[in-house]
Amino acid sequence: MTLFHDPGFAVPLGRHIMPISKFALVAGEIARELPDVRIERPSPVEEADLLRVHSPAYIDAVRSGKPRELAESQKFPWSPELFPSVLLTGGGLLAAAGQALDEGSSGALASGFHHASADHGEGFCTFNGLVVTLEALRAGGRIRTGAVLDLDLHYGNGTASLAVARPWMRALSIYGNDYQDNKPFRDVSIRHHEDGPNHFSVPLVPTGHSDCGMLMEKLKAHLPWLLEPGKPDILLYQAGADPLRDDPYSPLNLTREDLRERDRVVFEFARKHGIPIAWVLAGGYTPDTSKVVEVHVNTAREWRRIFG
Ligand SMILES: [Zn+2]
Repeated sequence: MTLFHDPGFAVPLGRHIMPISKFALVAGEIARELPDVRIERPSPVEEADLLRVHSPAYIDAVRSGKPRELAESQKFPWSPELFPSVLLTGGGLLAAAGQALDEGSSGALASGFHHASADHGEGFCTFNGLVVTLEALRAGGRIRTGAVLDLDLHYGNGTASLAVARPWMRALSIYGNDYQDNKPFRDVSIRHHEDGPNHFSVPLVPTGHSDCGMLMEKLKAHLPWLLEPGKPDILLYQAGADPLRDDPYSPLNLTREDLRERDRVVFEFARKHGIPIAWVLAGGYTPDTSKVVEVHVNTAREWRRIFG
């Protein structure tokens, strides 16, 4: 079993709410606990891969730092290290997806970047690695269709915007915080976006006690939507740590065990239907980074248990 990680995923950020050290911590923990899992270093994606999804003006801004406002639209301070780092991050998911097509499953200890749109970044997401990966696999003739399952706390607005012109893909976002223009909204009963034929969103409204039952109900009710046009050639799973109840952004009452149960349900869904699955880390902002790391390592543990 193979996962992908590179120290270069961690771009220098200075003081920032994003715990950029988590990628290496997750990789270290997995190497210690799951020695039979290989952790390989990916190649970066190429500019041609980005250009299938993002505008040349936006790519130029992230490379050059100019104009600064566009280069920092994802809310990371621009530095010359940013561009190579996000190319490598995109390469991590692309490598994991290729491995999943060969072996059935894999993962990248990197971000999926689901808030990034064609012409700008948002919410710490520079280039949308999920759609970049699907487009690259299609260009290489490896897939015809693909699906994204987004279980980050926040609505995957960037992925949804990119799905509109791509009828061959499906994007499902089950989320506890709505999100637009770099702002999370706690009240998910106010809809800030519209679903389309191939992108669908399911809000999780806090119940006032454990929200695990509700999450399981929503997964059971909506995962089959991903299969409606026929089984996708690959499933990319964005496994967020920020739905955790300790997370400063999360209104949900979900424990680490609940999120591990979530991962189990997703991996068993993919295995049952014979869909190659590649998973990727997503948000997690609990001040005690060890809690974020534990949620991510749990995803690896469940993946290892179910596919190993
Ligand atoms: Zn998030």
